[in-house]
Amino acid sequence: MAEIQLEGLAKRFGNVTAVHDMDLTIADGEFVVFVGPSGCGKSTTLRMMAGLEDISSGTLHLAGEPVNHKDPKQRNIAMVFQNYAIYPHVTVRKNIGFGLYTSKLSSAEKTARINETAEMLGLEDLLDRRPAALSGGQRQRVAIGRAMVRNPAAFLFDEPLSNLDAQLRAQMRIEIKKLHQRLGTTIVYVTHDQVEAMTMADRIVVMRDGKVLQIGRPIDLYEHPADVFTARFIGSPSMNMIEGNMRDGLIRHDNADLPIELDRKIGHAGRVLLGVRPHDLHVTDGSPRVSGERGLHLHGTVSTVEPLGAETLVHLDLAEGSVIATAPGRTLPAIGEKLSVHAAPESLYVFDAESEKAL
Ligand code: ATP
Repeated sequence: MAEIQLEGLAKRFGNVTAVHDMDLTIADGEFVVFVGPSGCGKSTTLRMMAGLEDISSGTLHLAGEPVNHKDPKQRNIAMVFQNYAIYPHVTVRKNIGFGLYTSKLSSAEKTARINETAEMLGLEDLLDRRPAALSGGQRQRVAIGRAMVRNPAAFLFDEPLSNLDAQLRAQMRIEIKKLHQRLGTTIVYVTHDQVEAMTMADRIVVMRDGKVLQIGRPIDLYEHPADVFTARFIGSPSMNMIEGNMRDGLIRHDNADLPIELDRKIGHAGRVLLGVRPHDLHVTDGSPRVSGERGLHLHGTVSTVEPLGAETLVHLDLAEGSVIATAPGRTLPAIGEKLSVHAAPESLYVFDAESEKAL
């Protein structure tokens, strides 16, 4: 069992509170990803779990046992860092073996464990090489190997892929996910990359200013963001937001007379932010038949076009602000062209403009 339980866990540095009372239970074998912008307290939370940072208040339980005052070595948790901290002057075999430095295994058992780990990570033919002769991805795997070889109850990853190029990051993402499927070990993973969070997590914890904003499965956060921050953070490109006024269940944006009808009743009156994902905003021919459909209609001027092959991102300047819509790959509108876009009522999100909470 490697359940990790945080009860009112907090960290203060002088008068700065880096992490406010955090309550969270991470189940045995779960893959939990902490996301949030720089400085939101992700790493500090992870470092408290690892025992690298003192806990200011609250309790941390590992496998049901309070561990606030246990040092890192006694916690049976392995941490993999961003700057993968491998020793350049020794071989891959030795680098992985450092993970067993304090272990009481016999040297034959240690060798077997190192070989097994290397095999699992596809490093078996590289055991005698030094890090300088490895690619970035292979070096990252050595760092993971050093953590894995101890057979820890949980892995903590602190932005392990941020030093790698985009292609390698995508590849390592899959490797870490497969490793988790194979080992079934609890993983807590910190990143500011929402794609990593969406693709790897069983559950995502969204943090901001040292507080948890929302916890849920990736798809739940994508479909039901609790506030503007999560709505814009999860999903790429970010959700478009248009300001408007809500009255009698209808929304009007400031420069248009047509009210926007929703698919549900919201008894709110006042300023709102209307959210719509670029993938839900479809380019139309602007014909009367289309304009008569319920939902959101916007008319704007193309300001930027980003062809991605399978789809094209079209940036539109509107009287109400600016939005991004997606169009099929072969649709390449000209800059300055006038375009109409539409989103169905069920794809619209509404947030209170003041509290930024979902309505
Ligand atoms: P990043 O993505 O940039 O690593 P993060 O979300 O991991 O950011 P933390 O490193 O946990 O953020 O930092 C949270 C807050 O605590 C920040 O405001 C940071 O400046 C502050 N902080 C972190 N470590 C210390 C320290 N040793 N002394 C004082 N303040 C600190």
